[in-house]
Amino acid sequence: MQDERWNEVDDYFCRQLVPQDAALEAALADSAAAGLPAINVAPNQGKFLNLLARIHGARRILEIGTLGGYSTIWLARALPENGRLVTLEYEPRHVEVAAANLARAGVAGKVDIIQGAAADSLQRLIDDGAAPFDLVFIDADKPNNPVYLELALRLSRPGTVIVGDNVVRAGEVANPANPDPAIVGTRRFIELMGGHPRLSATAIQTVGGKGYDGFALAIVEG
Ligand code: SAM
Repeated sequence: MQDERWNEVDDYFCRQLVPQDAALEAALADSAAAGLPAINVAPNQGKFLNLLARIHGARRILEIGTLGGYSTIWLARALPENGRLVTLEYEPRHVEVAAANLARAGVAGKVDIIQGAAADSLQRLIDDGAAPFDLVFIDADKPNNPVYLELALRLSRPGTVIVGDNVVRAGEVANPANPDPAIVGTRRFIELMGGHPRLSATAIQTVGGKGYDGFALAIVEG
């Protein structure tokens, strides 16, 4: 589902509110040249994540799903000088492209990219006693979203903000009969957020250059 007006409005918002940036543009260009899929957040969504992290005063950010590091750059730029971002990515090629993009953007010194299956990496962070994160951005394989949410909660503190991307699935999130593992995982993710005693959450549908989509937003309350 796509409407030309959504592109026009996104273009207008980006022109007015999200100035062009050489490092971000190069990150997208090099990701495309390396054959990575164009499933990064849109520029205005990247800026939204950046603003959210700054509004929240995040000093430690966890990202699940790095791709070429586009959203990582937006989030890392929100950090104070001594801030830290940990980003988890399964594909070694994506890690390689992201590392170069983060270095060019001047944020590599604040970012740890951990290659491997995110569930394993999260468990290792828990086992190693990693300090809690202030903001978690979940944007990897959707069937595992419930697993990521449970593990992310173990790396959270009261006040941690959790964002889950791509929760609309072309509207199929509202269809309990759809057996697609991404839909089942997203529904379980939303239901976990809704029923979890430690979480207060909402979800918002969006339209834009990336089509019809949406995100879930939660805060850890206890
Ligand atoms: N956050 C990125 C951005 O906006 O620029 C986009 C991330 S993309 C939607 C999802 C990423 O998750 C892909 O790079 C994919 O390789 C990675 N991924 C998929 N399954 C994974 C897993 N089990 N563990 C870690 N990363 C995984």
